[in-house]
Amino acid sequence: MDILYKSTRGGESGVTASRAVLEGLAGDGGLFVPERMPSLDVPMEKLAGMSYQELAYEVMSRFLTDYTEEELKGCIARAYDEKFDTPEIAPLRKADGAYFLELFHGATIAFKDMALSILPHLMTAAARKNQVKNEIVILTATSGDTGKAAMAGFADVPGTRIIVFYPKDGVSPVQERQMVTQKGDNTYVVAIRGNFDDAQTGVKKMFGDAALAADLDRAGFQFSSANSINIGRLVPQVAYYVYAYAQLVKQREIAAGDRINVTVPTGNFGNILAAYYAKQMGLPIGRLICASNENKVLYDFFRTGVYDKNREFILTSSPSMDILVSSNLERLIYRVAGEDPEKTRSLMESLSGTGSYEITGEMREKLGDFYGNYAGEDEVSAVIAKLYREDRYVIDTHTAVAACVLEKYREETGDTAKTVIASTASPYKFARSVLHAIDSEKYDGMTDLEQIDALEAAAKVPVPRAIEEIRSAPVRHNTVADVEGMEAAVRKILGLGEREKE
Ligand SMILES: *Cc1c(COP(=O)(O)O)cnc(C)c1O
Repeated sequence: MDILYKSTRGGESGVTASRAVLEGLAGDGGLFVPERMPSLDVPMEKLAGMSYQELAYEVMSRFLTDYTEEELKGCIARAYDEKFDTPEIAPLRKADGAYFLELFHGATIAFKDMALSILPHLMTAAARKNQVKNEIVILTATSGDTGKAAMAGFADVPGTRIIVFYPKDGVSPVQERQMVTQKGDNTYVVAIRGNFDDAQTGVKKMFGDAALAADLDRAGFQFSSANSINIGRLVPQVAYYVYAYAQLVKQREIAAGDRINVTVPTGNFGNILAAYYAKQMGLPIGRLICASNENKVLYDFFRTGVYDKNREFILTSSPSMDILVSSNLERLIYRVAGEDPEKTRSLMESLSGTGSYEITGEMREKLGDFYGNYAGEDEVSAVIAKLYREDRYVIDTHTAVAACVLEKYREETGDTAKTVIASTASPYKFARSVLHAIDSEKYDGMTDLEQIDALEAAAKVPVPRAIEEIRSAPVRHNTVADVEGMEAAVRKILGLGEREKE
């Protein structure tokens, strides 16, 4: 049976999966959700015997029903290949009474690779299916990680180009180096003299610019977006929760049918929403434990039913979770609003208007699958040090937020169910914070490069290729532009000529 998609705000329905992947955001500003949740109709014993790629096909084909078997298997094969440094793709590691699902073995050593390595292939297949002749141009503003992971995914994928804008003085030295050394003849990087919000606003403006769209179309291009609300990013993430469960069965840690919990370090709410979808498909998940850092909007939301972004934005050691508006939460809101687009729209309008909204008691009752808590900076350091001390296992700061919240959950509830923790970044990506937590006296004075070697010695895990590469790779990108010059930069890159004067 076909699964079609509809907007959470009611403006679109009956949309095929491939069109939803191409469009990203629905025309009414809503997010695409499946009109009906598919079920996981494959016996667990069978899934337990599958490779990551085989299992990903079983899960993704249930959602992306208008892709042929050949198309989808082709996308999966091109995504989950030697770009990952282990054939398991997402290995499970047992430590401190939990199972760490390592989602950081891809090109940029963070979990966004799991989705962004396949999205370009889902998009180009979708373009072919829908007779889109234009080349797809991905436009992204990044505060560091997403832009790099998107470029790594789109690099040299035929029929696509990617242009990434980042704030010149708003990313870490390592992130900047990752950006300017990006390979691929279809990748373009522009540093902006401005902050992340300026870059983001500039990109949004170009997406909404009809004159620019017409010029693009004439030249054989069209824009698309790789951001985390695209169902082409969400669906691949469902697969690894099923894979984690299947591995637990295979390793005889659980029996098929046993209930497990899942803990996810959360920012935009995409990763944990994928776990929720896995549960809705029939995967035996009990609690979805939502872990926040000190930007604890979601914790407050689960506790009080009020979502309020009007607060101080705190810079933490888990920057990928420093987020005050979790855009994927709209899909959960829609669900607990009984799939009522009017209710969803009015809550989201309240969010963009006043910065907050409150859900009804009836909606709150439907949030029982979730538990929210948060970890402070000292708690994050303590849990990194403890895992290192007791298990010689080194985790990154984002994963540590999850590990800490799991401890709080267990203490508070006494629930001892086996639990998978989504481990979202390699400790090498945040070496300074990680080593500071383990032994600040010993490591704080070292240079970045010395720290990489120190981490290798401490963790006994080889330095990932992504880190080796930024040490040695040549600089390929050096374009710098003013905020006002963003459109001109895009026109130049695509050879469009200057904008006509009105
Ligand atoms: C993006 C990111 C997160 C947050 O994931 P969401 O899907 O946005 O909730 C957590 N950890 C790391 C390392 C990330 O890059």
